[in-house]
Amino acid sequence: MSAYDYDLFVIGAGSGGVRASRMAAKYGAKVAIAEEYRVGGTCVIRGCVPKKLFVYASHFAESFEDAAGYGWEVPEARFSWEKLIANKDREIDRLNGIYIRNLKNSGVEIIESRAELKDAHTVHLVQEGRDVTADKILIAVGAWPYLPAIPGIEHAISSNEAFHLETLPKEITVVGGGYIAVEFAGIFNGLGVKTVQLYRGPKILRGFDEDLRDTLQDEMIKKGIDVLTNTDIAEIVKLEGGRLQVILQDGDSYETDCVMYATGRRPKVDGLGLEKAGVILNKAGAIAVDARSKTNIDNIYAVGDVTDRANLTPVAIREGAAFAETVFNDNPQEVDHSIIPTAVFSHPEIGTVGMTEEEACRAHGEDGVTIFKSTFKPMLHTLSGRDERTLMKIIVEKKTDKVLGVHMIGPYSGEMIQTVGIAVTMGATKAQFDATIAVHPTAAEELVTMK
Ligand code: NDP
Repeated sequence: MSAYDYDLFVIGAGSGGVRASRMAAKYGAKVAIAEEYRVGGTCVIRGCVPKKLFVYASHFAESFEDAAGYGWEVPEARFSWEKLIANKDREIDRLNGIYIRNLKNSGVEIIESRAELKDAHTVHLVQEGRDVTADKILIAVGAWPYLPAIPGIEHAISSNEAFHLETLPKEITVVGGGYIAVEFAGIFNGLGVKTVQLYRGPKILRGFDEDLRDTLQDEMIKKGIDVLTNTDIAEIVKLEGGRLQVILQDGDSYETDCVMYATGRRPKVDGLGLEKAGVILNKAGAIAVDARSKTNIDNIYAVGDVTDRANLTPVAIREGAAFAETVFNDNPQEVDHSIIPTAVFSHPEIGTVGMTEEEACRAHGEDGVTIFKSTFKPMLHTLSGRDERTLMKIIVEKKTDKVLGVHMIGPYSGEMIQTVGIAVTMGATKAQFDATIAVHPTAAEELVTMK
């Protein structure tokens, strides 16, 4: 008999927590998982999944236009935001149901309550007003949008609220230059909203390969997004009738219907009781963990965005799985965060894996790196006439011929980068890329024909 109520208590039923609890239960552990909102977490409920559905919705506008070049006469299209929201909500409900079913079928007890640590082995269930104990505790509570404390910030929304707007605004300002900002600027612009993207730096997507940043910014402007760089909002004033006045730091101002902040996310550690259990945070305010996701307290672990390593769903899932293998299957595992293929569902979309040109030059010297680059008009747009460019880029280490990074922007880049990611993870050389027979006619064939 265990001295505790559970072998494992997981706080947070998002991607990382759910994977860890199901696997631990499979290995015979008695597991409970607490969730204060909805099982599925950020990705399923208010992130990747609804976002991708919105991205699909917003692409139709261009598809209707592009169809003309292929002989189609498309009557004037009409869009219903209400219908999109209702259908999206139905799909999220379905996925939420699947997550709940999977947890139950794995033998995991779901507790619908906020959970806070009382000490290293005791969890207080706030809604239920009771305590439970566990041998191991896993914290997987994710992150939450951060909005800077400027005057009038209460009139702004984050992506959380963007998924539930009652009506589609006619005009919007999206603040930030990261993943969420570029994705939502593309979504709103595609849905016909007059969109401003406002970024404090000189160029969007800081940290990505420079060619991708330049290309995306140009393409977004071509598609009609007003990209304002090197500027920031000083104040937001609500006007009579509900419109918002945006006052910039340089004193300029303009009106809009909605301001959405996408200025990063912070680990959701407030009120978790970490200090009561003795768990320490790192300088960034995330839970500090070792390579096996263990905190400074021996029986407490943390995975996913709350640890601020690589804040991506598949990474959280990997970390959750590695935790369960290590702790409940006597099979110690560490997640390799060095090569992570990822996509940004901007318009056009981005796929990227490995080092950027700048990182490769820093690591191997400018003379130690060869850059292969190709830009072209995607075949779809030969007949559609749309002025959109695709860019593909391969970064190779001269000495070893190893592919250090692949970066692309254009249709289906998110799909392509997954398979390229296998090659890069395996340590493929440029010669091996070249030895691969092309698939024709595709955009992807550029990857094996680039000279
Ligand atoms: P990011 O950290 O990617 O970007 C935040 C942006 O906001 C940056 O451009 C940053 O500017 C700017 N910013 C930060 N603080 C301020 C401030 N005080 N005032 C003005 N601007 C500010 O965060 P996101 O919110 O876009 O995304 C959060 C996380 O979600 C990311 O870590 C990402 O991993 C994940 N995500 C992944 C997706 C995918 O895989 N497709 C999709 C969506 C999210 P600066 O560059 O100058 O620092």
